[in-house]
Amino acid sequence: HLANFENTSNWNYQRDRNVAEYAPHVHNASLQVVRNASMDPIKYLMKYFEIKANQETLADVQRVAEDISRLEEAVANVQRREAEIVAMINPPAFILQRYAGEFWSLVGAHLSPITVPYPNYKFQYVSAGGNSGQTVNINLDTPTLDALSETLVQKIRWAKSAAGQRALMTARLRGWIKDRDRHTCQNPACGVSVAVEPNLLLEVDHIVPVSRGGLSEPENLQTLCWRCNRTKGAKMPA
Ligand SMILES: [Zn+2]
Repeated sequence: HLANFENTSNWNYQRDRNVAEYAPHVHNASLQVVRNASMDPIKYLMKYFEIKANQETLADVQRVAEDISRLEEAVANVQRREAEIVAMINPPAFILQRYAGEFWSLVGAHLSPITVPYPNYKFQYVSAGGNSGQTVNINLDTPTLDALSETLVQKIRWAKSAAGQRALMTARLRGWIKDRDRHTCQNPACGVSVAVEPNLLLEVDHIVPVSRGGLSEPENLQTLCWRCNRTKGAKMPA
């Protein structure tokens, strides 16, 4: 489920409607609209935040999706590294369960909770009296961005266009390509893999670029490490 529903009612609390949130990503709406947004987040996101189904939007959504997916991977790497450090120090389990904060402050290691700062869109209803409220939060995480991309492609019916092809690069397809390539950089001059370098950042590359008519199909996709992907234009034949 792509949206999360939150009851923000606060009994006897007089909310000042004049200081309600009017941030750009907050839509103040009727209770019905808030409920509908929870049932069909993509449709309501597009309608009320004026996300237009065109090539430009697709390119934007795709760029955000790639950045978010890269961030998710980087955060997962840091968390894995953290787990390795914890495993190395290896305090008794009961300490981690019950006194983790105190233990780590005594050790001097500060494990900061790292999360991906997902763009957030909000549908918000506040009753006339001010003490009843409902909020629907839509985080632009990978499943939501993929669903948004797929909806845009359907709306534009541009599966063969460059923008449509980029949009068809979903997180699921990226994961599948990396599995197929055994999480190994496919540049023969490199060949670095996650087995050798556990925190390696791998990316999925179009062998024939989308701008030259390359499709988002398995035969045209390969796994590259981030270093090779950055220098692909200079060093590898496209
Ligand atoms: Zn490489």
